[in-house]
Amino acid sequence: MRILVVEDEIELARLIRRALERERIDIELAHTGDKGLEKALTGTFDGIILDRMLPGMDGLSICYELRLAGVNTPVLILSALRDLDRRVEGLENGADDYLGKPFAFEELIARVHALTRRASQRYLPDVLAVGSVAMHIHRRSVSVGGRAVELTPTEFSLLEFLLRNADQALTRDQILEHVWGYDADPEGNVVDLYIHYLRRKLQVDGPGSPIETVRGVGYRLRAD
Ligand code: CA
Repeated sequence: MRILVVEDEIELARLIRRALERERIDIELAHTGDKGLEKALTGTFDGIILDRMLPGMDGLSICYELRLAGVNTPVLILSALRDLDRRVEGLENGADDYLGKPFAFEELIARVHALTRRASQRYLPDVLAVGSVAMHIHRRSVSVGGRAVELTPTEFSLLEFLLRNADQALTRDQILEHVWGYDADPEGNVVDLYIHYLRRKLQVDGPGSPIETVRGVGYRLRAD
């Protein structure tokens, strides 16, 4: 097992390394946020221990950037800020667990084992990314080619359904049932109307649009 430790307190980083190496866990260290992100983006670790307060980029931003880039390595945030809001903030940014400083090394080791065990059993992605479109489920944010896009709740649900079923032709009835929750459409064209809104907001209108019209069926989000 190989773990990346991003911690700017040199002495603490050294102690973490020693504790984990006794467990036969390979450790790579980074002492700044920027270096940590660079290494973490390689996606070659089984887990990441991330200090929250770091010079350069902070731990939560690193975590968010990783998820946005589609790197799903489990993350344990270390932080001296122990209150609940901070913990929730960490988890919303895509962290998997949170440990307040100071901590016992036995607890850190137990958390690392739990983290990597859970990750191998199941992973529900918090970021859906298809082509240039990325959606962060918990933050309820969407970006296209790195540009943030504001969506209404209905547009968000519609895009989420398209992203989760990328490359599949979806009928208007399927879309209606999943996004609006009923199968009768009194207006007759609510799906078409919202697809139009979505294309316009994503600025992906026209022949090159990743949201394709499937004639006689409905719509498909192209996954290339
Ligand atoms: Ca620190």
